[in-house]
Amino acid sequence: MSKTIGLTGGIASGKTTVSKILELLGAIIIDADLIAREVVKKGTPALKSIEAVFGKEFITKDGELNRKKLGVHVFSNKKALEKLNSITHPIIINHIQNQIIELKKNNSNSIIVLDAALLIEMKLTSLVDEVWVVAVTFEEQLKRLMERDGLSKRQAIDRINSQMNIEEKKAYADKIIDNSGGLSQLEALIINIWKNIKD
Ligand code: ATP
Repeated sequence: MSKTIGLTGGIASGKTTVSKILELLGAIIIDADLIAREVVKKGTPALKSIEAVFGKEFITKDGELNRKKLGVHVFSNKKALEKLNSITHPIIINHIQNQIIELKKNNSNSIIVLDAALLIEMKLTSLVDEVWVVAVTFEEQLKRLMERDGLSKRQAIDRINSQMNIEEKKAYADKIIDNSGGLSQLEALIINIWKNIKD
């Protein structure tokens, strides 16, 4: 029997790092962020809806989504973000659902990992068998986010605070992956978890 795991956590907590380790161990990864980008590619129904609702100014000369401009618009306007989500989220959820069905059909006895920052917010938890939350101390999260994205302390704090509180996310967790230590510590932890799910 295949098992589907939803992997989530705060920004820069280490979801991608964890999913890469799991992939090396043999898991099949579904990257929700990648799907979110694919559904708004040039010529897609979602992009057409975005153009109809938000206007031509959010489409580039080449017919692509102007992500930066739309990002600035929706992140300073809650109603606009809700509108955008109402266009894209159902399509993203549908794609993820279909991918899980397809992967399960073609891979018996596999571990499928859905890497999704918004797993809980988008109610994707109903599509997975287990929820794993990657957690890290606030200080470590701040440090990694500032380093990775070249942000100031203020900008990094604002990004962390704009997300669902990690304690709230932990309440949904079947497993909490503590990524406050170094990379070798994380690898050892994931290898151990992997052994137990494969047994
Ligand atoms: P996002 O929410 O933006 O998608 P994420 O949760 O996928 O981020 P990663 O990109 O995996 O987080 O990790 C954030 C940064 O922290 C990266 O630069 C990564 O290399 C680093 N990192 C992750 N885990 C560790 C660790 N245990 N020790 C040191 N650095 C780490």
